[in-house]
Amino acid sequence: MKVAVTGGAGYIGSVTSECLLEKGHEVVIVDNLSTGHEEAVERGAAFHRCDLLDTEAVRKVLSTGIEAVCHFAAFSQVAESVSDPLKYYRNNVCGAVSLAAAMRDAGVTDILFSSSAAVYGEPDSTPINEDSRLQPVNAYGGTKLAVERMLSDCSKAWGLRTLSLRYFNAAGATGKHGEDHRPETHLIPLVLDAAAGRRDELVIYGDDYPTIDGTCVRDYIHVKDLAEAHLLGLEKLPAGCTGALNLGNGRGFSVLQVIEAASRVTGNDIPFRMGARRSGDPAVLVAASARAEEILGWKRRHHEIDVIIEDAYRWKRDHPGGYASA
Ligand code: UDP
Repeated sequence: MKVAVTGGAGYIGSVTSECLLEKGHEVVIVDNLSTGHEEAVERGAAFHRCDLLDTEAVRKVLSTGIEAVCHFAAFSQVAESVSDPLKYYRNNVCGAVSLAAAMRDAGVTDILFSSSAAVYGEPDSTPINEDSRLQPVNAYGGTKLAVERMLSDCSKAWGLRTLSLRYFNAAGATGKHGEDHRPETHLIPLVLDAAAGRRDELVIYGDDYPTIDGTCVRDYIHVKDLAEAHLLGLEKLPAGCTGALNLGNGRGFSVLQVIEAASRVTGNDIPFRMGARRSGDPAVLVAASARAEEILGWKRRHHEIDVIIEDAYRWKRDHPGGYASA
């Protein structure tokens, strides 16, 4: 299959491109490199440095025999989305509208959309299934929900075939691709930087939550398992598979448990101190992913937290300064 991957120079997009190529698919990456890295673009893929807001340029790319789109390209920093919502709505929502228009004009019908657990906001109960209330508590989650709804409306209006995949906390790496956000805000890379002495200490955002040890609990899902779900999703779209599916590990780990696991994996003590809560952080976010298992036939292969952290650790060890240092 010939697949366009928007955001293929980013974290999950690059890993998915790698997996698609491994399975013999043809990959065409569309990325404006605003947050992605040229070094992350898979060698076996075609690459177009192009902004999704340029509908005509995207239409041209899609008109080269593209059969499906995996849409990853988006801004993803929660705090920044709260302080600068227009930046997020313009890039994430307007970008997706432009992409959908380009797909319609190029006659491409199939799209997998990178959505997020952020669409649920502060959940009423946990684990969270897809029928839980959708009430994002930040602009990032708001943009993801808006795009889900826009794609679903296009589906009703002109037959776009769309599946939204709601990731929980993507983590881990392959040998080639890992997490390199600037600035980095995610827990596991920050913990690994603290373990390696690249950062003085980790600040834990609050220890007074109603959880096992007072720190927030999250569901860390290996990025390779996320990529695998995309491969399965692409096969299911033509059969009419639609809607939204959670992709998570089904097991939660507190911030302190992640630190302990990283200490086991690296053999180093991890300096940390307790800090204030970060606004907008729900106490517990754990996915019920039974629907994805049932509908996609998805099986997580890398669910142990130590394995997830070990893979992230190896990538960090080989790329201490991120992609630029490889
Ligand atoms: N966290 C933390 N210190 C940090 C970064 C993150 O305590 O320096 C916590 C954060 O409050 C959350 C968890 O680690 O409970 C995972 O945060 P991350 O930003 O990786 O993902 P999120 O759950 O916000 O999508």
